[in-house]
Amino acid sequence: MPDASGLFDPERVAVVGGTEREGAIGRAIMENLEAFTGEVVPVNPKRETVLGRPAVSSVSEIEGPVDLGVVVVPPKIAVEATRELGERNVDNVVVITAGFGEAGTEGAARERELKEIAAEYDMNLVGPNSLGVLSTPNGLNATFGPANARPGGLSFMSQSGAFITAVIDWANDQGIGFKDIVSLGNKAVLDESDFVEIWDEDPDTDVILGYLEGIEDGREFIDAARSVTAETPIVMVKSGRTEAGAQAASSHTGTIAGSEKAYEAGLDQAGVLRAENVQELFDYAQILAGQGVPEGSNIAVISNAGGPGVMATDAIGDSQYDMATFTDDTLSALTEALPEEANIYNPVDVLGDTDNERFERAIDIVLGDENVDAAIVIATPIAVLSYEPLAEDIRRLQSKHDIPVATALMGGERTQNPNTILQEKGIPNYFDPARAVSSLDALLTYRKITQIDYQPPRRFEVDQDRVREILKTASQRSNRIGVEGMGILDAYGIETPEGSIVDTPEAAEEAAAAIDGNAVMKIVSPDILHKSDIGGVKVGVAQADVADAYEDLLTRAKNYQPDARILGVQVQEMVDLDEGTETILGMNRDPQFGPLLLFGLGGIFVEVLEDTTVRVAPISEREAETMVGEIDSAPLLRGARGRKPVDEPALVESIQRLSQLVTDFPAILELDINPLVATPDGVQAVDTRLTVDPDKL
Ligand code: ADP
Ligand code: MG
Repeated sequence: MPDASGLFDPERVAVVGGTEREGAIGRAIMENLEAFTGEVVPVNPKRETVLGRPAVSSVSEIEGPVDLGVVVVPPKIAVEATRELGERNVDNVVVITAGFGEAGTEGAARERELKEIAAEYDMNLVGPNSLGVLSTPNGLNATFGPANARPGGLSFMSQSGAFITAVIDWANDQGIGFKDIVSLGNKAVLDESDFVEIWDEDPDTDVILGYLEGIEDGREFIDAARSVTAETPIVMVKSGRTEAGAQAASSHTGTIAGSEKAYEAGLDQAGVLRAENVQELFDYAQILAGQGVPEGSNIAVISNAGGPGVMATDAIGDSQYDMATFTDDTLSALTEALPEEANIYNPVDVLGDTDNERFERAIDIVLGDENVDAAIVIATPIAVLSYEPLAEDIRRLQSKHDIPVATALMGGERTQNPNTILQEKGIPNYFDPARAVSSLDALLTYRKITQIDYQPPRRFEVDQDRVREILKTASQRSNRIGVEGMGILDAYGIETPEGSIVDTPEAAEEAAAAIDGNAVMKIVSPDILHKSDIGGVKVGVAQADVADAYEDLLTRAKNYQPDARILGVQVQEMVDLDEGTETILGMNRDPQFGPLLLFGLGGIFVEVLEDTTVRVAPISEREAETMVGEIDSAPLLRGARGRKPVDEPALVESIQRLSQLVTDFPAILELDINPLVATPDGVQAVDTRLTVDPDKL
């Protein structure tokens, strides 16, 4: 990417299509640029001046350098205009014009052309179909939105331009300020990963915010965000969560939205704070911009009202915080400062008749306790208490003790001035105490993000050639492969039980004889992937019954689907399920994030309990460990109810080996190991099925 500083901090801006025509977007942009401290050159062949600024008739006629080109002419000319800007060495271009990728095949072709031009001239291109860009320090508002933003430390990218206009309007009201804003539009060239990098370099951006409907390249985003987020927090809300929402998103900007789980995993792995909704997005951004992170997870609540104090305590129970235990010094100081009926233990209740002085004293004592890492102050309005001085006190005491504080000074109009007083120091004030908890929780989440030490994935010695061979042979029959693909797992060091595929009853007997104890027999057919559904799995078959079982399996398969291609029967060693737990390990490919690994409780419980977790591959050892540890049934694996704990390191290793397999072989589109039986002495993959794309082999 060429230097992008001219995108938000240009000295000279050319507006191709700048006009005076009432109601035109080209006019709205010219008007919004009136406060810009740099120079604006309208490009308009029909006029000498536009809103008092001398115009040139074409891009080629602009004299001197231009840092930013804004294109607002109709789609057909917009492409040419962009090329002309390229020829004039304009590094940064914002294409406002719509009618590209979001508008049918003709539009898509035009967008491809735009991309080619950007590549040819090495341009930073925003859009097309963008509302524009905005930067407050220099008064740059190259958007056609209705209002200008207040200055501040938040830099905001949004896939929806309309949303930006609403946000600016609302944020102005709330006193929320921005450094830069960009409307990503169709993201033909610059996307969310680029802006994460651009703002990483910007000392005036305190927090990066995003409203996204899709992510162009999930892996690229993860890598870009990881390198930024320890310094600059990134908070994002992704819309298009539900099925219906996802469809709306794709028809909106022409992206195919990835599955929700992929986003959650991807954003978590990227070190991004996920916000559930717009309110959380700004709540988190504001507190992150305004206050430092807590040093620990012990929180105190100080209130003058029992009920709201309990609400906060409940919310803390659901958060990452623990209620702080005060030191003896704190307790005796509180005893001295408060009436006898007050509660000096956390949550502190200074009582409903408190005046400002008593409240101030209690806050000072609690914030000064070495066991307190963060605090919430809650107040309800009463006659002897004034909110403004209380807000002043909280602000001063927060600075004095330097720990994160959020407040719930509850009420209506009386909270307006206190809001401003607190907000100036980055202390959020909410009506709802739970919202104060949630914002403080975001600080703790961010602290954990900054502490992550990202490890590279471990590489194992494997037999890639064997996998390619098996995939090639099997995919000639069908792109769906069943247990005939077990060798793939073996080649990547994922343990499978002893077994072989045979195609006569005699061979089955021979194979069973070679196995210790009773055998498991399964039908092998690319057309029957759910074997037990049709009675295609026989467990605990004694040697004497093997030949009969063979015939029976074939009969069942033929009854079920007469034209099913039967490759034979798998004769497999029994795995002791009493000692083991059936887990599932699998992968499917998300259109945006790529290979998504899934681990969870397996066997028949998969669909019932849906106790699974996902990660974007490739993953590190630590991530694999976290996967195993974070499913709800982890205690089951760790030896609940007197069971022997399973071999967790073996599970963790299998997940990493699968991660390597699906990273090495993009041809594997989906893969299931179900069950992967975890036992005290290791793991056994007893069943697999996969889908391949032979063209990718
Ligand atoms: P499918 O999923 O196609 O029905 P599986 O091979 O997963 O077929 O077998 C179904 C179930 O049979 C497994 O979930 C497991 O409980 C049991 N099973 C299969 N193979 C073995 C084995 N080798 N040892 C013990 N139990 C097995
Ligand atoms: Mg199975």
